[in-house]
This record gives sequence, structure tokens and C-alpha cells, in this order.
Amino acid sequence: MLDILIQYSIPLDPPRKTFKYLESGPALVTKMSTKPDQIMKEIPELQDIRHAAYWVSHRGWSEAGSGNFSIRLRDQPEDLRSIDAMAKRKMPLKAPELKGEYLLITTNGSRMRDMINELEGNVCLVRVLSNGEEYALLWGKERVTSEFTAHIAVQSMLKKERPEFRAVLHTQPTKLVALTHSPSFHSPEKLVDVLFRMHPENRAILPERIEVLPYAVPASLELGLATARALRSHRLVLWEKHGVVSIGGDLEEALDYVELMEKAAELYWTVASAGIEPTGLSDEQIAETLGAFGLM
Ligand SMILES: [Zn+2]
Repeated sequence: MLDILIQYSIPLDPPRKTFKYLESGPALVTKMSTKPDQIMKEIPELQDIRHAAYWVSHRGWSEAGSGNFSIRLRDQPEDLRSIDAMAKRKMPLKAPELKGEYLLITTNGSRMRDMINELEGNVCLVRVLSNGEEYALLWGKERVTSEFTAHIAVQSMLKKERPEFRAVLHTQPTKLVALTHSPSFHSPEKLVDVLFRMHPENRAILPERIEVLPYAVPASLELGLATARALRSHRLVLWEKHGVVSIGGDLEEALDYVELMEKAAELYWTVASAGIEPTGLSDEQIAETLGAFGLM
């Protein structure tokens, strides 16, 4: 039964702690026979990845091979050091802050929907070498995500300035991205203002609100550096006509912020689709709410 469910990708919603059964199933036994695979089984962040990938893919926020993430491992078990490097590669930009760090990162072209059942072909583990200019590939497929530059830029900044944030998630939530195509919202200030008037709790959870970056070529250094700058003081950045990048202590938290913003966009479109211009929360309602939350 389980094999059938997995084979046909029937949308289970397994609790985060119950994925163990997938690792002990017959299809994966041979894959787990080598030492690196045994070590990888003990890394708790893999559970976080499966759970986030499930939700992101079922919501349609990471179609085909889009969407990617990176996680700096919280613990570094001694066993990890015993894994031989499969290859050494040059970092997309020098990152001395990350030296010695282990990063789980999506591989190029990997599908979020595939990660629910199979991680090895879709996620890799790399270790940033001591000069910060090279990394060693330790596990998984060789080609890392095309947004590697942005991930290294952001992870480097986080390690230095906001070390409690370890997960960086890029995904493409439909209604939020759709707003950036509207001529009414070409002003980032107006877009952010409207979004944060759609629901009172968003200002409490994200008091710094979000930043909107103008369109830039995907995977470009320009986009990566601008994203890292924006995330110094925000937890979510909206890329015009493309998607979002959010950060969290883990992917689960990063996903929370995407959900909040996508809900705000959905509320906007639901009202606007009825031919009504949404009124949003008034200045007085916002002031009253922030006062109640102790944020004023
Ligand atoms: Zn993208």
C-alpha cells in the first residue's frame, strides 16, 4: 500500500516525524547501504526539507524544477568529516564567513515534488572549505541550484549578522507574484502598504514588513547581492515578476512567512476579482492593533 502511495505520489500529508518509514522501505535499502548515506540519515534537517517540499509543491509554488533552498546544518556530527569529497568546486563568490560550514542545498533542476519521496537525487550536501573560495561536494548530485550565488550571498550575510537564521527558501507563490505584474503596484511602497493592510496579524508577525526588489535576471550576481542586502533587515523579499526568498531558523519558519504574504495577496485578489477595490485596514485600525501588540 505504501509503495503504491509513493509510486503514484498520492498527496499524503504525513506528520513531520513519521517519514522514517520511507527510509526503511525496500526501495531505499540499497541506497542507504554506503557510509555517507548512513550518516545522512541522522541529519534532522532532511525531515524539515521533506515537509517543506511537500507543502510548497502541493500549493503550486514550485512548478517543474523551480524553487530551491539552502540550510546551514545546526549540528556538525563528527561522522560528517569522514565523508570523502566527491568533487571540489569553486564557490560562485568568496565567502570566508562560511568556512567549515555544511550546507544542504537543492540541485540544479530538482523538483520539489520529487523530494517528498527521494532526497539524494535532488539535494546535495556541501562543505565550504577553509579559504571560503571552494566547496567540497559530499553527498548527492553534482550540480547545485542555479541560484547558488544568491544562496551563498544570503547565507554568508546570515552567518555573520543573523546567525539564528539557517534556512533560505526561494519559491514562486502565484498570487503574490501576480501582484507585481499589476500596473497599480509598480511602486514597491504601495504594494507593501496594501499587502500589510489585508490582515491585522501580518504587522505583528513581520513588523519590519517585506522588501520588494525590482526585476533582475534570475541567478544573476546582482539579484543575489541585492537579496542578501534586503534580508539584513527583513525576513522575506519579493522578487518582482518572479518569486520570493524567505529565511527562518528552519524551512518551516521560512515557509510561514511565504504563507502569510500569499494569504494577503489572495485576500486582495478575492475582493478585487469581485470588481471591488479592497479597502484594507485603516490607519486607525492598524494603530490600534499595533498598540495592542505592544509594537508602537
Ligand atoms: Zn525562481
